Amino acid sequence: MSATSATGFDLADPRVTVRECSSCHSPVSGRFEGRVVSLSCGYCGTEDTIERAPEPTSGDGGESAYRGKERPREGARRPPITMDLTIPPPGFTGKEPVETIRAAWLSAKAAPVPDEGHERDLRDYQVTWLACLESAQRLRARDAVRARAVLEAALDLVEQPSYRALVLARLARLAVQAKSAELAKGWLDRVPAKLRAPEVTTDVRVAEAFVAREVEGPRAVLEILGRGADLDALAGPTRLLAIALRTDAHEKLGESKEALAAWTAGAKAGGMGLGSFAALYGLAEGTRKRALRRGALALCLLFAAFWALFVVLRANHNHEPMPLAPLAVIAVALVVGLVLRASRSR
Ligand SMILES: [Zn+2]
Repeated sequence: MSATSATGFDLADPRVTVRECSSCHSPVSGRFEGRVVSLSCGYCGTEDTIERAPEPTSGDGGESAYRGKERPREGARRPPITMDLTIPPPGFTGKEPVETIRAAWLSAKAAPVPDEGHERDLRDYQVTWLACLESAQRLRARDAVRARAVLEAALDLVEQPSYRALVLARLARLAVQAKSAELAKGWLDRVPAKLRAPEVTTDVRVAEAFVAREVEGPRAVLEILGRGADLDALAGPTRLLAIALRTDAHEKLGESKEALAAWTAGAKAGGMGLGSFAALYGLAEGTRKRALRRGALALCLLFAAFWALFVVLRANHNHEPMPLAPLAVIAVALVVGLVLRASRSR
């Protein structure tokens, strides 16, 4: 993916912002001159001028989410509604088609903002959830410009620090995909300090690991995300992406046993999701193929063993002499099955 998209948007320049047009909601972009940016919509011609908003940090800023050492001020903020984006806000199932999510996003953007309290938190969560889901749908459709515009638009609307962190982490991931570690670090620098929810810290760690993968290499990825099959520190929907990254790092270091162990643990926890995340980001190709081959081999063994068992039982039932071939098949299946099992763990 090139830094400048086919439509002329520069997705790598740290001074460029990508938003949605205030009239037609098409993506628009411009470069900050000081604190101000002029955006001109190529589709409907609307001119917008936006001032860079001061970062609404609750702490001292600059410190990454999961390294906080002090407790947040007592009563500084209410606990948010949820930080797990797999839980849809009221009125949604998470299975809505792209158009429904888009329409809901546009109406959420236009809706009046509740002043304070539960209603405000609920609105922040709805905006975050819709923007993250739409961004993911756009990314899967290889539309990196819209995937980014919706996230930057959400950042203008969301106040709750945990939700801002989720949006910023996704923006950082997009920046790495646009080959701009500098822009990615810029987004991560804006992650509010001292966030502790495992869903949020997993998300931020994954973004940091993507940057580390580009800048420092696989060892740095494992330092951030942990090693092997241990999934305890990972939570939320980005957990599977963390496992795909970890598998990829083991693979690049030639640690194929650890790679397979991480992958197998992730596949048990997340089923098909792991494979689709890895394919989307081009991660752990060797281990993916290896796991697929092992799965196919295990299935063949199972069929062969059942066939052999059937033949043996039939011979027994008909009082025929015991055939040797099926017994041999059962023995071979047992041995290969044990070898498969032993080579997976440790
Ligand atoms: Zn427009």
